[in-house]
Amino acid sequence: MHQDEAVKITLDDYNRMKEVSAALGPEPIFEASPLVGLSPLGSRITGAILGAAIGDALGHPTEFRKTRQAIEEAFGVGGVRGFVLYWDRDGKHFAPYTDDTQLAWTVLVSLIESVRGGWSLDRTMERIAQRFVCWAYEPTGGHRAPGNATLAGCRRLLHGSSWREAGDAKAGGCGSVMRAYPFGLLFCGDPDRAEHWAAEHSYPTHQASIALAASAGMARGMAVATTGSPSETVLTEMIAAAGRFDRTTATMLGNAVAAASSNRSTEEVLDGLPGWAAHEALAAGAFLYARYPENFSAAVLAGANAPGDSDSIATLAGALVGSSVGLSGIPEGWVTDVEDSQRFTAAATEVTALVSAAVGG
Ligand SMILES: [Mg+2]
Repeated sequence: MHQDEAVKITLDDYNRMKEVSAALGPEPIFEASPLVGLSPLGSRITGAILGAAIGDALGHPTEFRKTRQAIEEAFGVGGVRGFVLYWDRDGKHFAPYTDDTQLAWTVLVSLIESVRGGWSLDRTMERIAQRFVCWAYEPTGGHRAPGNATLAGCRRLLHGSSWREAGDAKAGGCGSVMRAYPFGLLFCGDPDRAEHWAAEHSYPTHQASIALAASAGMARGMAVATTGSPSETVLTEMIAAAGRFDRTTATMLGNAVAAASSNRSTEEVLDGLPGWAAHEALAAGAFLYARYPENFSAAVLAGANAPGDSDSIATLAGALVGSSVGLSGIPEGWVTDVEDSQRFTAAATEVTALVSAAVGG
């Protein structure tokens, strides 16, 4: 996402945020789990969560390089071929993700709480909104280029807007679709709910129809993919879901999927889908999934080396292809090195336990 202005925090804002944070309470901690003996469902869920974070981290260093030429000048011919950005913090050496994964995590954790507690839509969205506010003012791991529409929505949430009102009616950036995939994981047994709730969750920050449609399409696709459906079925369902909210998004998605089986090069197609807008990001992610449904590395590296919103495109592709190939289809070194790998694995195990009764694990 773009960052045109630093986060300006007044003392009043900070005090308000602290009140929200106190009401929210501590984040749930999930029990660490080994990555062996996963069920097929567990492998797909783990693959989706880690796949999204890995795609995001691969695209982190290329996000603001606006042309392929600029990416190749910085990282060599072909661009990045693996993690090139590492941080050392608190005794750990890791490849850092961006705001995409920070926000997807806030959604994932809130949905785990929601499913555990059998919460309503309204209660769940209020919880997600609380976490957005705390993220905007005090993100775990520090600020990572948050988008302006997301920050503006968080500011309005902090000053009393309801979750349904806070977003800008014209905001159609990819800031909500990039964090929508957890709906498909938690509600893989109920794709209608995944689609509906994901569209609703866009309202606190992005209310343009392309953002609602993209969030709905991504969540529905993830739900269908998580239950093991072939990519053709997943993509058909994504297009249909997007079309229930916005025709333009559905058309763009359909064209991108068709391009995957054409003789157009991956680079040429992605150059036409820079991904700053919600529908372009989803179309780019779906294109990569359609072209490389069984090749995780090819999909996420193509996304990471795209000249547009590289990290968001690679996040979406990583979630979709990661669920398709499962954990064993993702290079082991990337699984080990991505920031918070163990936290994601533990959450994936929790999600698997919660949904396996509904869909058969
Ligand atoms: Mg980002």
